[in-house]
Amino acid sequence: MFELREGRLTIPPPKDGACPVCGELHGRQEPHNKNSLLYQHRFRRKHGRYPTWEDAMEHCSLTVKKRFCERLKRQGVTVDVDKLLRGLKTKKEE
Ligand SMILES: [Zn+2]
Repeated sequence: MFELREGRLTIPPPKDGACPVCGELHGRQEPHNKNSLLYQHRFRRKHGRYPTWEDAMEHCSLTVKKRFCERLKRQGVTVDVDKLLRGLKTKKEE
């Protein structure tokens, strides 16, 4: 996934057909992989913090968000649904 070259950590670019944001293979309407090193690295550089699942789902529809939240819940991950809905509202107002 990543390599150490001359003391620097290098994360290779996404493979062909992979999401350009997180570098993983997923549908355009599906959330990014929050655990992807590429995504975490890029997000942190842009926002000064690591991404949350809420961030990874920001571009998704409400239906996808709800479905994905249920999946995360089954895996023991709690997601701030209110924050997700606020994000959706903000997007509509733009
Ligand atoms: Zn992605």
